Amino acid sequence: MSRFRIDLSNVRVEQDKLNQTISTFTNMQQQVSSMEYRVEGAVRARRNVGSRLNRSSQQLRELDRMVRELNQFMVNTVGRYEQAEARLVRNASEMNNGQYIFALTKYAGGSPGGVSNGGNSKEQIKAKSVNEVTTSAYKADTGVGETKKKVQIPPPPEKYTNNQKVQYYLSKMGFNIGTVDGKMGVKSSSALIIFQYSQGLSITGKADAATLKLLQKLAEEGLTYDSIMKSDVLKNWKPEQPGIEPRKDNKGNGKLDVSKLARVPATKDRDAYLQNEAAVAWALMVNEASKDKTIDINRFKASGTSEGYRTLEVQKEYFKKYGEDSKRAATPGTSNHGWGLAIDLDLNDPQKGKAQTNELKWLEANAEKFGFNPYLDKEKPKFKDGSNNYYETWHWNYKPKKN
Ligand SMILES: [Zn+2]
Repeated sequence: MSRFRIDLSNVRVEQDKLNQTISTFTNMQQQVSSMEYRVEGAVRARRNVGSRLNRSSQQLRELDRMVRELNQFMVNTVGRYEQAEARLVRNASEMNNGQYIFALTKYAGGSPGGVSNGGNSKEQIKAKSVNEVTTSAYKADTGVGETKKKVQIPPPPEKYTNNQKVQYYLSKMGFNIGTVDGKMGVKSSSALIIFQYSQGLSITGKADAATLKLLQKLAEEGLTYDSIMKSDVLKNWKPEQPGIEPRKDNKGNGKLDVSKLARVPATKDRDAYLQNEAAVAWALMVNEASKDKTIDINRFKASGTSEGYRTLEVQKEYFKKYGEDSKRAATPGTSNHGWGLAIDLDLNDPQKGKAQTNELKWLEANAEKFGFNPYLDKEKPKFKDGSNNYYETWHWNYKPKKN
């Protein structure tokens, strides 16, 4: 009988062992799958890093290519620069006053100073030689300064405002700017605009940094009002068509970007604005008119508060104020003021009809040369005697003839 007795305790022990083994195995399985998961993650991460590295090396290659191209471009540019410089030096003696300076100024990117980045770079060496060439060519052209020294201009007083500095240097060049009082009136503003135009600067009508820098530099190099006025760029000037042409549908009227317009002076030291081409024409007209001693040049400023460029909002106010009764303001959206192409001059002659003052008579005879036209009565632009019948004597439109 005993042979057949089953020892259950042994079975239990074996069963326990089996359970333990199973449990261990399960644990191991869990660990393995967790490791697999981690390995998969690592592989994924490696793949990502790999592709990033790949991308980086692609970018590096692209960067290398750009650097090579840039170097090639620099070599070419310097080569062209040297050729141009040599050509200019060769031709310098044959060129007229001022023209050469203008050409070089343009060439060096609006400033004979050219690029300046603080180092002893090739560009700086180039820029330096441009300065030297500008000065020597200028001397060759004008006979000014047989000596190699710069013109002795003492620096302006420290306390001067930028406007005063501009006035100071312009007057050193020989522009008649009146007194150095910091007020940019008719004389100072027209001189400044002429200078900006002659040097290819932005026509801001303001003492901006670029203008001030170049003005000081060229004044010290001996550039004069006379040589500027004799330069081809000014001798060949004709009224240019405005950069923004008025549209028949009036879209955009009164919505110009004022920061791109040029400042001209207005009464009570206010600012008025015109499109750049009109401002240059105004400045040259003032310069011409100032030669006539019978007229008061200060009357060539804009009168009132907004008598150059006028925004649509202001035109609406004016129309409310003047338009409906007196018809003295244009329907909003139709005024040439909204295009920055009209200026109401301070002519002290706010009459309809015939020109009365010397300033008006001068304008009648000369304004058209500068692209400015009177605002004549639409129905009867002339009186019987042939004289102009002004609708508004003070209002002048910049509307140069197209060729
Ligand atoms: Zn007007």
